[in-house]
Amino acid sequence: MSRRNDTVRRETLTVGHGYDPATANGAAKPPAYLTSTFVYPSAQAAKDLHVAFFDGVDNGAGGHIYGRLGHPNLDMVEARLAALDGAEASAAFATGMAAITAVLLTQLSPGDTLVHCRPIYGGTDAFVHQELPRFGIRAFGFSDGTDRESIEAAADAAIAAGPVGLVWAETPANPTAAVTDIALLAAVADDIGRRQVRRPLVGIDNTFLGPFVQSPLAHGADLCMTSLTKYAGGHSDLLAGGVSGGADVIARLKMFRTLVGSTLDAHTSWLLLRSFETMHLRTERAAQNALAVATFLRDHPKVASVTYLGFLPAGTRARAAFERQCSGAGSTFSFRIRGGEAEAFRMLDRLRVLRMAVSLGGTETLICHPASTTHYAVPKERREAAGIDDATLRLSVGIEHVDDLIADLGAALEAI
Ligand SMILES: *Cc1c(COP(=O)(O)O)cnc(C)c1O
Repeated sequence: MSRRNDTVRRETLTVGHGYDPATANGAAKPPAYLTSTFVYPSAQAAKDLHVAFFDGVDNGAGGHIYGRLGHPNLDMVEARLAALDGAEASAAFATGMAAITAVLLTQLSPGDTLVHCRPIYGGTDAFVHQELPRFGIRAFGFSDGTDRESIEAAADAAIAAGPVGLVWAETPANPTAAVTDIALLAAVADDIGRRQVRRPLVGIDNTFLGPFVQSPLAHGADLCMTSLTKYAGGHSDLLAGGVSGGADVIARLKMFRTLVGSTLDAHTSWLLLRSFETMHLRTERAAQNALAVATFLRDHPKVASVTYLGFLPAGTRARAAFERQCSGAGSTFSFRIRGGEAEAFRMLDRLRVLRMAVSLGGTETLICHPASTTHYAVPKERREAAGIDDATLRLSVGIEHVDDLIADLGAALEAI
């Protein structure tokens, strides 16, 4: 398997990697193993399996015990995700948030500190600020992830408050498309490691671009987290999350997942295996559409600004980091109309093709007004500091015919 990995490309791995038809009566496609428990062939085999699972001993015992600990469809998803992320191993979870919280709770201990980018995904932000303080874990944010001084200032404040247990960034960030330089973050983590007992791991939330556009592990990250709900699932019909990284840290995450019970189920795993096969085609077409839509919006008189990654100005640190670590600009971005909430609402209510909903990365184009929806609960000051005001709209461009998307947006903008 590993030799195949080295010689074939990711587009090829998405079709079939991790599944061997010989294990399932020659079925060309993986069956969904809809069972909660697995029958042991013998008492000794049962013992061997438990020794292998709980002591991490490789005694040759193959098979599964109980669905929460692992199951065949989960193994297939994890093998494929690891191949796509260029990782030793991956762990799949019931949702992206289950994956993120598993990383936070396995890497951070009471008294530790977290260094993270700002802004950060709403769910992560709420967990870090509402739940982690109960464990005596404090968070220190940096606002410019391409500026060494900005990251170091957060790191210094964190070290003064306690050992840094984890460095976490979402790049590009939601919904501002702010870029964090992954290699720079890894270099700062190395510095932190020289000043305390343990070097903190660097984790990247790769949801906004996904494995075909950005490979954080290749740029120095230790962990790559993806909400598989978005581009990997790709049809807005499932929830899942994944983390890729070194074998030891992934094994620790799987043990935690078994105890918390956030294992990805067999049916969703099966859907995800199917979705993986077309992910590169969907992300490519969506990215082409997004470029055309972003260009249309940038040139429209009723649009004030567009935060599309492809428009990052030449000569900036953000542009340089973007070009180093991303192979494309993705298909989710935000734009600001001329006006405020009333104008934004008039425009949204005029749309006929675009659907108004949160989430991103599906086949259909989705639009939302972050200030009154995804970021409603964020205090106005923090919201505006994160670049979200009443004129901001977030767009996740899908794979429809781009002319229909542009015509719909054009007609709706006339309503302003
Ligand atoms: C959606 C999302 C998550 C959370 O994923 P869920 O699958 O909804 O739990 C995390 N990070 C980012 C950037 C997201 O867009």
